[in-house]
Amino acid sequence: MKILLHACCAPCLMAPYKHLSKEYDIVVFWYNPNIQPYREYVRRLKAFREYTSRIGAKVIEDLSYPLEDWLLKASLLSKKSNVLRCRFCYADRLYKTAVMAKKISSDYFSTTLLLAPYQKHEIVKEIGEKIGKKVGVKFYYEDMRKWFDEGEGMARKSGIYRQGYCGCIFSEADRYWRDKI
Ligand code: SF4
Repeated sequence: MKILLHACCAPCLMAPYKHLSKEYDIVVFWYNPNIQPYREYVRRLKAFREYTSRIGAKVIEDLSYPLEDWLLKASLLSKKSNVLRCRFCYADRLYKTAVMAKKISSDYFSTTLLLAPYQKHEIVKEIGEKIGKKVGVKFYYEDMRKWFDEGEGMARKSGIYRQGYCGCIFSEADRYWRDKI
């Protein structure tokens, strides 16, 4: 059975790939226009390429980066609530993944967003399942949080770049600015 596994970044890919590839044929998918600013996007993409090439993973990349559209939508939603902004961000990435999964005749699609405890886990699951029904490809759900500590260890050991914030400029501000003044 084939899973198209959306990777939000190299560190979050490590443990899910290790476990899922024992049972499934994994193709890793990159589509993350939520990563800002652009130099950070490139840094994470390079880390992703370095790691996937190291482990010999099959990879599909969608390098579209619709910055104006993304920021416009995210800003409007962010004014209402962070949860709405993150819902949009998850849905955008999961929809692209589901469509690609259908295109390559994958049995499932999934995402490494299910790994980190700081992501809105239940919302990722809910959106993944809804999009799966809409697009006509099954969403593979597993509570990957059980692999989080292992993934952290693998990431540290790998020497691959590990970012300090989720991705968007709003999360960067939350992490480095608002708490510090
Ligand atoms: S905090 Fe993370 S999940 Fe939420 S909108 Fe920003 S990049 Fe996306």
